[in-house]
Amino acid sequence: MEPPDATFTLAYLVFAFCFVFTPNEFRSAGVTVQNLFSSWLGSEEVGFVQYQVRRTSVTLLVHSALPLGYYAGMCIAAPEKNLAYFTLASAGWQAFLALSLCLQLLSWGLILYWSRRQWSNHPISRALQAHATPQRAGWGVVATSINTEFRRIDKFATGAPGARVIVTDTWLLKVTTYHVHVAQQTDTHLTVTDSRQHHMSPDSATPTQILTLRVASINPAVKPFDIRLMSTEYSELREKLHAPIRRATNVVIHQTISELFLDTFKAQAQLNQPYLLPSEMEVEACIGCMQVPAGTKLIRHCCEEGSDSDSECRQCFCRPMWCLSCLGRWFASRQDQERPETWLASCVPCPTCRSKFCILDVCLVG
Ligand SMILES: [Zn+2]
Ligand SMILES: [Zn+2]
Ligand SMILES: [Zn+2]
Repeated sequence: MEPPDATFTLAYLVFAFCFVFTPNEFRSAGVTVQNLFSSWLGSEEVGFVQYQVRRTSVTLLVHSALPLGYYAGMCIAAPEKNLAYFTLASAGWQAFLALSLCLQLLSWGLILYWSRRQWSNHPISRALQAHATPQRAGWGVVATSINTEFRRIDKFATGAPGARVIVTDTWLLKVTTYHVHVAQQTDTHLTVTDSRQHHMSPDSATPTQILTLRVASINPAVKPFDIRLMSTEYSELREKLHAPIRRATNVVIHQTISELFLDTFKAQAQLNQPYLLPSEMEVEACIGCMQVPAGTKLIRHCCEEGSDSDSECRQCFCRPMWCLSCLGRWFASRQDQERPETWLASCVPCPTCRSKFCILDVCLVG
């Protein structure tokens, strides 16, 4: 039996971690700062900037109170430590409580400092102040412009809740847990610096490619920051964004599901048992593209020989005729385009003899 204080410590650590980094399960259960304080935070639609100023301030206060919460919980979980009576507690716990109180007081002090002169010391207000011009005097005018544009339904918005990306007619915003990065589109240029491919798998139903874009501004007061989005959202971003986007030379962007799927298809085929070409057979060029040798052969691997399985696959007796890319494109083209999550598991007819095959039956010619 674990002592109750160790159990509590572990549980509290997990809770604190999840509360700060809010995985989806926590989010759907509503255990987020936004949800718990929603009545005080007001509506993001009505005043986006004011909402974010309040939200980041409350987030800081709540997160900095987590160590105090731990101490309070330990008072109950481990009564033998006498934590409820400060003078009886051990020196280590006294120091912990003192530090936790300091942390909480410091964050209150910081919030008080931010809130002076109608929150003009807040980091978000300062980020907006960087965009004040003679025509747009003061950060309040910038805030009004952002609030107005945020209410429009044609804004581009994407990203995980801890790193949302919002593009309005004039502005590019990145909303993180403690801050909002602001760049004005006309001052900005973007560079696609990285792309990361996630193959289709049982956990993620659709293949995805995550792009990282660096946002840099000619305004020296705006620090460069990174935004992330899925490659399938890239064209939508380009439509909304008037700023130039450069692409680092080694980054390839796959904008459609079929293009993304091709990588998954190829990776899966590499895992299958290769087909050893009989010595008298010669490989011809792929009849789809005529560019590369036909490198695939369909062999029914998905079910055991002779077993009565409900697989629709049939043995194909065609010689190698297609390259892997052409076969992958064929495979993708025969799928339900609306339901990419079904693609990996489905069967399609061989392009030549129409015997059905699935992704497990695609063998590379060895
Ligand atoms: Zn081909
Ligand atoms: Zn065939
Ligand atoms: Zn099969």
